[in-house]
Amino acid sequence: MSIDDLAALVRTIPDFPKPGIEFRDITTLLADPAGFSELIRRLADIARPLDADLVAGIEARGFILGAALAQALGLGFVPIRKAGKLPGKKVGIDYVLEYGTDRLEMHEGQVKQGARVLLVDDLIATGGTALAAAQLLREQAATVLLALFAIDLPDLGGRSALEADGIATAALLE
Ligand code: IMP
Repeated sequence: MSIDDLAALVRTIPDFPKPGIEFRDITTLLADPAGFSELIRRLADIARPLDADLVAGIEARGFILGAALAQALGLGFVPIRKAGKLPGKKVGIDYVLEYGTDRLEMHEGQVKQGARVLLVDDLIATGGTALAAAQLLREQAATVLLALFAIDLPDLGGRSALEADGIATAALLE
């Protein structure tokens, strides 16, 4: 399957979650068996040479792609969740949004000191979410080998922001 065929499986929903936003929706791609497996195959091809120790995925669509990618690479998966969802002892980070703040958390001890981590989400826009997740991983003394996305919205500058912070990034679709 070509990259254009893959891109054609992503649908755009206007005015979601608020007026003026064009939401890139990967559920159409996930529902397509050939498309989903091609997406994971291509992400795995990028990630495999890096020889990571584990995959960390950002809630919620980063769980879907991250867990499938972890399986493809033979690695474990660690979820990075929104505040208040994880049951065990947690570490977290607060980060600034356009309006207000948000918080990401993960279970303490699941990312070991020195772990080589692949950070995964469906999409990078401004990069604020991925930067916070990478910072949280770094605070556990882990190395973020690569922040990997299905989709990049380059006009919003997220990948540049991560690269400026020393975090290598890759995305399949723009
Ligand atoms: P950022 O923090 O501005 O880079 O936004 C990225 C986060 O918001 C990711 O967790 C995405 O899943 C989510 N997001 C932002 N825009 C979209 C979109 O158009 N489609 C799907 N997810 C989006």
